[in-house]
Amino acid sequence: MSLLSATPEHELLIDPTNQAAVRVDQLTRIYAAGGQPVTALDGVDATFARGTFTAVMGQSGSGKSTLLQTAAGLDRPTSGRVWIGETELSAMSETKLTKLRRTKIGFVFQAFNLISALTVEENITLPLRLSGARPDSRWLTEVVDRVGLGDRLHHRPAQLSGGQQQRVAIARALAMRPDVIFCDEPTGALDTQTAAEVLGLLRSTVDEQGQTVIMVTHDPVAASYADRVMVLADGRIVADLPQPGADRIAEQLASLGGRPQLNREG
Ligand code: ADP
Ligand code: MG
Repeated sequence: MSLLSATPEHELLIDPTNQAAVRVDQLTRIYAAGGQPVTALDGVDATFARGTFTAVMGQSGSGKSTLLQTAAGLDRPTSGRVWIGETELSAMSETKLTKLRRTKIGFVFQAFNLISALTVEENITLPLRLSGARPDSRWLTEVVDRVGLGDRLHHRPAQLSGGQQQRVAIARALAMRPDVIFCDEPTGALDTQTAAEVLGLLRSTVDEQGQTVIMVTHDPVAASYADRVMVLADGRIVADLPQPGADRIAEQLASLGGRPQLNREG
């Protein structure tokens, strides 16, 4: 039996106890290699409830990508702890962590990160095949329909627009039915119209599938699709706003923009 067909439908729904999908506790990441150590994350505490969409904002270098990478188990924190659902990552071996990432976590990056030699369909099913699961064709059809790529399955990435490529990347992330989807500036390379489509798609995975999305963005309009906006500065959370509109977000960012940028502790 494949992992996918073993996943009952109800597990996709919002957990009624609303237990956290992701939790980080005193998360610290210091990059020490070469020269002055850089404290990219400085004791971050945060809880991301299941079935919620969080935007992570902040100036360049504030630690957004590092937060995503450590929370997703792609990078190990210097200290502090990370839970994905019930599972605490720090004690896990590299092998177990890789397996957890493949089954519980989806990633969407600004640069799409598709494999150019593979077709759309092969790109979407790659993580499933890597994890040894047999693709559940009914679910894959639904995912492909949802991202509107049904007539592009045999194309290669180079034959698609940027927006279509990002939708392939989202389909690839959804294919495994991950609990959490981490997105690092997923609309950074897209025009406004295409960005809106991609954001609508992320929003609907939260609303309709009860998945949890944590998305880094620079764009207040993109962030306004989220239920919550968290702002980082110098590796710390400096604002955590429930459902602010784009105006409020822009205001908040402008107020941070007045701060000197290079006072990060080395
Ligand atoms: P953001 O995504 O908000 O732009 P990052 O998380 O990428 O910020 O980076 C936070 C800080 O950590 C920055 O000062 C950055 O230069 C530093 N940093 C990020 N990755 C590395 C790395 N691999 N090695 C050394 N320093 C790094
Ligand atoms: Mg970044």
